[in-house]
Amino acid sequence: MSPALFLCQRCKEPLKLLQQQGGPLEVQHHANTPTEIPVSAESQVRTSGRPHSDGGRVSQGSALCTFTLLTSGGPDSEGGTTSQGNACCTFTLLGESASMRTMNTIQNTVLETFEILSDQKVVDHPLCVDCTDHLLMQLDDQLALLASDNQKYKSFQDRELLVSEEEREALHAELCAELSSLEQEEARLTQELEDLDGHHARVAAELRAAQAESKELYKQHEQHRVEYSVFKMEQLELMDQLSSVENQLTYALSQQYRLRQTNIFNATFTISDEGPLGVINNFRLGCLPGVRVGWTEISSAWGQTVLLLFSLSKIAGLQFQRYQLVPFGDHSYLKSLTGDGVLPLFSDGSHSVFLNNKFDCGMKAFLDCLQQFVEEIERDERCPCLPYRIHVKEGLMEDVWDSGECCSIRTHLNTEEEWSRALKFMLSDLKLILAWASLRYC
Ligand SMILES: [Zn+2]
Repeated sequence: MSPALFLCQRCKEPLKLLQQQGGPLEVQHHANTPTEIPVSAESQVRTSGRPHSDGGRVSQGSALCTFTLLTSGGPDSEGGTTSQGNACCTFTLLGESASMRTMNTIQNTVLETFEILSDQKVVDHPLCVDCTDHLLMQLDDQLALLASDNQKYKSFQDRELLVSEEEREALHAELCAELSSLEQEEARLTQELEDLDGHHARVAAELRAAQAESKELYKQHEQHRVEYSVFKMEQLELMDQLSSVENQLTYALSQQYRLRQTNIFNATFTISDEGPLGVINNFRLGCLPGVRVGWTEISSAWGQTVLLLFSLSKIAGLQFQRYQLVPFGDHSYLKSLTGDGVLPLFSDGSHSVFLNNKFDCGMKAFLDCLQQFVEEIERDERCPCLPYRIHVKEGLMEDVWDSGECCSIRTHLNTEEEWSRALKFMLSDLKLILAWASLRYC
């Protein structure tokens, strides 16, 4: 026979009815009590706490299951002790104690038990031991409560018997008045509750509107914050640019002031002398038997001299006649405007020593240009009086202030000393002209 499976109707713990090999049927508390409990042939069917005399026959007539039947009077102490002490009753059948006293009822019970054990009938209320105890405790509590109520009803009944008819009517009238007053109070409170519900609905609607507005304002606030950040960043960048521009302006103004204070001619050209030799920008112009000067340095000195006169003519707005100055470093030259070609103002010492060689013609042409510039500036009353006079046609420089000596600027049939002196005279005039131009144009 396969074991029957039950579930406790309260805690849903599984209950199993087992029948061991050749032995009586046992009930196992499947979940918590694995120990198999032997079913005693001794009757454990009890009514009202009293063992039934027919219990033996009940147990003999069927496959036995240990259980407890409770009557309306509840379990007595002995029954409770039996179910708890043995811990072998895993469910409880509730029934009437009176019906248990008849043989017919006992037979029905046995038959029902048999049907349950043979899976022909489903047990309505199987309970485990713990739940049975709990149920008994609840029934005890209900019984105690009912007893207390019964006691109270009896005391009220006794008191009512002592009250007179007039007092009862007066009390009734008083209670009716109090009931009416309470009904009015209830109506008022109901109306107030309805008002409060309406007010609550309006407040809830206002709250939802305020929350929506708050949400919109928060979005606007976030948008404004983002825009503020962008503008703030642009402002910082513009402030940086402004600061940079202001620094550049300050630097440009300082540079402008410094440049205005700078004399371009004095800063660019320096004319001095080194004994009998004239010097321009550290290049010596001329040479002596005891002071050998290379032709490269002489050509460079001539280039600086041409650049000086070219710059002076530019700032004075003078266009030279017959010649055009071309400053080109140590290869400067004059370009003839009358078809004489190019007249070099540089040499490597291999130039012709004959009359009117190109180098001599170039130096004479330069004197021609210098003379034109002197004539131009002599129109200014502040023009300096030059100590050396220029004779263009002869190519001479005359010392008009001192000895009246004339020195030829040509190399043809000339000595190095006289040539160098003539060049020094020329540079001396240019130095005075440079000083005058610095005051006049700068
Ligand atoms: Zn249970």
